[in-house]
Order: sequence, then structure tokens, then C-alpha cells
Amino acid sequence: MLNLEIKLLLLICVFGISILIIAVSIYGTVAKNRWGVNLNPLICPVCGAAPTPARPGISLRRSFWGGRTCEVCETKMDNWGRIIERKAQ
Ligand SMILES: [Zn+2]
Repeated sequence: MLNLEIKLLLLICVFGISILIIAVSIYGTVAKNRWGVNLNPLICPVCGAAPTPARPGISLRRSFWGGRTCEVCETKMDNWGRIIERKAQ
């Protein structure tokens, strides 16, 4: 049955891709890169204020990767709270 083999191969491919995505997310969380998931609340690294959640449509990169902008000092940070762009004082 060739048909069954194709279905089985497709199932293995979908399963493999899912495992890969999970593995990348776990690695990203451990390595703290952009693929990781940060469950801790963000605090501004410059002034210590807790930024409000990102509003949609401001920046594609920020809304996609989960970065934030501090409303007090306008420092841009990634989803791990690290400085991306600091406004000149
Ligand atoms: Zn700040």
C-alpha cells in the first residue's frame, strides 16, 4: 500500500517539525535568545519601571518578538528585558 506509506511519511514529517519547533523554543528559553519564551514580567533595565504591554501596530519586530518600550525613558528592550535601543539622554 503506497498510499498508507505516504500518509505515514507525512505524519512523521509533521511530528518531526513539531518536535523541532518545541526544541528550538526550549533552547531559546535556556539560551535567552529571541526564540525563547520569557514568562517573567519585564522591568526596564534603565529606570526600573514596569513597561506596559506592547500595543499592536507600533513595530512589527517588537510585536512579533514580544519586545517592549519603556514609557518612562523610552528605552526599547527585547522580550528578555535587554536594551535594544536606548534614547540619548
Ligand atoms: Zn525606563
